[in-house]
Amino acid sequence: MKQQQRIHKFRQVLEYLHQTGVLEQATVNHIGCPEADKIVDRLIQLGGEKLSPELLAEALAEAFDLEIYSSERHGTPLCKDEAEKDWLYAKHKLFLTNPFVSPAVRGLLNSEVLAKMPLKGYGVLQVAEQSGARNAKQYKENAHGVAAEKIVMKWLTDAVHAGASDLQIIPIGGNSVLIKQRIDGKLHPIHEWTYKDDEGVSYKHLCNVILNECKQVTGTFNRLIDSHFKIAGEDNAKSEVRVSMRPIFIDGANKPAFFLRFLGSGHVRTTKIADLKVLENTARLLQSITMMTDGLCVFTGPTGAGKTTTIYTILNEIHRRYPYKSIQTLEDPVEQNLQGIEQTQISNGEDRAHNNGLDFESGIRSMMRTDVDLILVGEIRDSRTAKQAMRAGLTGHGVLTTLHTVDALGVIDRLADLGIEKTQLASWLRFISAQRLVAKVCRHCSQEVEASSYYKHLKHQLDVAQKVRVANLDGCAYCRGGYHGRCLIMEVIPMDSTLRKLINDGASTYELRAHLKQDDNYLLLEDYALQLWLQGVTTLEALADIFGYAWGVPKHSLTLSDTDNHFSRTADTDSYCLSARQSNNQLSHYGERK
Ligand SMILES: [Zn+2]
Repeated sequence: MKQQQRIHKFRQVLEYLHQTGVLEQATVNHIGCPEADKIVDRLIQLGGEKLSPELLAEALAEAFDLEIYSSERHGTPLCKDEAEKDWLYAKHKLFLTNPFVSPAVRGLLNSEVLAKMPLKGYGVLQVAEQSGARNAKQYKENAHGVAAEKIVMKWLTDAVHAGASDLQIIPIGGNSVLIKQRIDGKLHPIHEWTYKDDEGVSYKHLCNVILNECKQVTGTFNRLIDSHFKIAGEDNAKSEVRVSMRPIFIDGANKPAFFLRFLGSGHVRTTKIADLKVLENTARLLQSITMMTDGLCVFTGPTGAGKTTTIYTILNEIHRRYPYKSIQTLEDPVEQNLQGIEQTQISNGEDRAHNNGLDFESGIRSMMRTDVDLILVGEIRDSRTAKQAMRAGLTGHGVLTTLHTVDALGVIDRLADLGIEKTQLASWLRFISAQRLVAKVCRHCSQEVEASSYYKHLKHQLDVAQKVRVANLDGCAYCRGGYHGRCLIMEVIPMDSTLRKLINDGASTYELRAHLKQDDNYLLLEDYALQLWLQGVTTLEALADIFGYAWGVPKHSLTLSDTDNHFSRTADTDSYCLSARQSNNQLSHYGERK
């Protein structure tokens, strides 16, 4: 290592030790860089009792961008015998090379272990296996550990009871952390927790509880962690919590923040298409998806738009109607167990090595060799998967899948980009769909207004008598900030002969869209959203939130207003999203008056 580089790294280690409170600023400012092989000794001397072996390892790992090797986390132990000569700190059960001098640590290590390790630098730090286990035990026995566990468990159960999809634990400076829950897609600050001297539970105790649950090494926080653990739900069924830990910089130091996601929690367990509460026409199209025998059906929408719920509902419906059909899924991850359906979990990048190379593409190939009727491919991310899914679709298997595109028509260009011929798309795409979830306005505290006088800029497009709802942002006992629950906005486009021909002829998305726009049989996302607004299910503001711009209302649609107030008619039922009959009426008005 060059002199200049060594000094730079040394300063980084010092800075880290200063941030963690081991070294005074004055020491950091005045100490010069010793010879490479003296550096670690010098640090130990300077740090004194405050410098634990773990902390030193952490500081070195940080400066050199190394992974701390832990046999608990990484599985196979190192070949210690050969390596120990060069390892420091044997007596502390912490083995680490001195990254300032060690030229070829790799040579000392078992090559099989190295292949598994996410080595980024040329040194490895190892916290001996006893250390992790000892910590775990300690934290369980330790009184503060027990108190900390109670606090964390309360945060978790509160979030689950509130129906939150996410829980965030964020340091906000001083001795405080802020607990936030995501409910109905919106993040709410719930509670501020502050360290109090007399109770003795510090934020580190709380962090260790979470790390312990994830079976991660406790005590080291300045790193990224993506992990998971299970908690027992109300009916004692275990549900999975995904955990991301990331240090955030506050008050001049790094402190860990936690982002927890409850898998499967956001999904209402819907088993029938009617439970999705979509407009009648859309429900009918979803019903026809259940009759698919071959080809592709693609669902799109951003993360958190309810795609999984829609797909699970369709699979449940298919199983209920056609119990003799074999339905198999490939998912990343499996979010809910479905009765009568064979679900396979595809691992994500991190632990792919432990999943015997199973990915979406090889999974589809394996399924095609069995007598499967319907395949769910969790997501098409690459060309290999796209081509294999298409192969399955054109050899007599119904394939449901998802893609990341803005709207349903985006599927065509996206699949073409992934190497699928447009002629194939024209023949084998069966349905394309896009969806969003919009907040429903609270029926207890919202206000009814005349749209044309309330929204002056829409005056010329609106029927004078049209009534819409405006949220009371202060909320009431029944809602949060004027909204309660969410409702689907959905476009489902069946591929008819005109569309097929257009795609086959290489029509642009713009041309396809123009075709859909002039045909009343198609209900596009914004038309659907408009229906919900005019019927008082949601507000213009909530829709602008979803679509991300000052929502442009299509002119022709605004003349369809119906003086009947559907909102108040349905307000006394528990769910005031449209009932089938009413939405049917509304849709026929839509057709008649245009
Ligand atoms: Zn309310």
